[in-house]
Amino acid sequence: MFFSKQKVIHNHTIFVIPRYACPFCQCELHEDDLMDHCLTYHRTERRAVYCPICRLIPGGDPSCFSRNFIRHLQLRHTFYHEDYIDINIVEEVLIENVLHQSFLEYVQVNHSNST
Ligand SMILES: [Zn+2]
Ligand SMILES: [Zn+2]
Repeated sequence: MFFSKQKVIHNHTIFVIPRYACPFCQCELHEDDLMDHCLTYHRTERRAVYCPICRLIPGGDPSCFSRNFIRHLQLRHTFYHEDYIDINIVEEVLIENVLHQSFLEYVQVNHSNST
């Protein structure tokens, strides 16, 4: 796991797309395909299964056990986690920096006016 991550960082031409085993029939699929696959073949499944995505992603819940796996997929995995999280963090940091900077400017202006 760590080795493949290092590889991605050092060699930008290698892009590893994680594959997940379908919890119903064990075939290996990409995250996007897993949703389509489950909707097509396992729509009527009522077995409770562990979510293979939650088990593998960092920060995911390895004990994620869902009686309605397709619903879980739709709620939790309709986007790529990494993209979603990155965008939000970047935005938050940007907003924080802007707020911080305008606050500093405000303090500086007020300070220079009063002296
Ligand atoms: Zn399957
Ligand atoms: Zn999940």
